Amino acid sequence: MNLRTPGPTPLPPSVREALTRDMVDHRGPAFAAVYKEVDKNLHDLFSTTDDILLLTCSGTGGLEASVANFFSAGDKVLVVSIGYFGDRYDKISRAYGLDVTALKYQPGQAADPADIQAALEADPGIAAVMVTHNDTSTGTTNDVEAIGKVVKGAGKLFLVDAISSIGSIPLETTAWGCDVVVTAGQKSWMIPPGLAFVSVSPPAWERHQTSRLPRFYFDLTEAKKASEISSTPWTPAISLFYALQASLRLMKEEGLSNILARHARLGNLVRGRLAARGLKPVPEDQARASNTVTAFYLPEGADARAVQRELRERFDVHLAGGQGSLAGKILRIGHLGYVQEPELNEALDALETVLELAPVAS
Ligand SMILES: *Cc1c(COP(=O)(O)O)cnc(C)c1O
Repeated sequence: MNLRTPGPTPLPPSVREALTRDMVDHRGPAFAAVYKEVDKNLHDLFSTTDDILLLTCSGTGGLEASVANFFSAGDKVLVVSIGYFGDRYDKISRAYGLDVTALKYQPGQAADPADIQAALEADPGIAAVMVTHNDTSTGTTNDVEAIGKVVKGAGKLFLVDAISSIGSIPLETTAWGCDVVVTAGQKSWMIPPGLAFVSVSPPAWERHQTSRLPRFYFDLTEAKKASEISSTPWTPAISLFYALQASLRLMKEEGLSNILARHARLGNLVRGRLAARGLKPVPEDQARASNTVTAFYLPEGADARAVQRELRERFDVHLAGGQGSLAGKILRIGHLGYVQEPELNEALDALETVLELAPVAS
């Protein structure tokens, strides 16, 4: 199978093997040793010494934790949305009773830091800014470094949904001023769905102390207390910790700079081949096109679901469809995690065949 969804991503052999191991007592030394190693390696890849808490849930649970732990009802926040996942941060914030100012962009646009600056100046009562680093729905990457300068310059808390970026696309948690960074195991981290990682800076912990939103399972006070003895407050997905131990060993061996370079190379490969066939990318500015997922419009008259089905049935190639307003109009190719050139070339060959595009003369 050629799984080219932007999460879940394929599993390396050593990760699959780790998943077959028997259970241990999650309050005992064997689990603590796994936790310690995972915690150390994650810190290197997050480029931070901030706490990183490991939650048993999908990425959305991590986003929910990032809202429930740092605010009280009625707090003003600025939610920047460039797509379906930015909208999700908006919905979670509203569900928890926050006073949301939405800064919303059209699909394919990236956020302009100047707009964020203007929104913060227009309402000094805003306490925090939420941003999606890489909106997986449009394959567009925001300039989190530039946005961080604006947000920290204004003295606000900065929360980043980096679920489909960190570990594949550069993100320097501390250097870029990110107070809370959320990601999930089934994206760059090459493990099955079910774990979210949330980093928390000292200013975020300070806000946490006075934050009154209701929380229990996702109470980060409990997660931090348990992390100090290399444990979790509730029963963790133990198998996923084994898997993460194995995948982080692979990431350490490859090295972060090589991982980032590989994703840049693969992003260029996919964009280059689609452009050669005249397939229009969703991101307007190619400098902001994602190195983990490429979203493109189908040619006039092509039926997205039929193309997806044919790819699946004839070639065992699995692409993702569009979400929200882009459903039925686009397809998305994931190229993050455990992936190299051959699988991508195979998927693109199949796509060209299904779309009956004439071969390019070489
Ligand atoms: C995958 C993803 C999510 C959602 O994560 P789930 O694990 O499906 O809950 C949120 N934000 C972004 C940017 C994502 O790519």
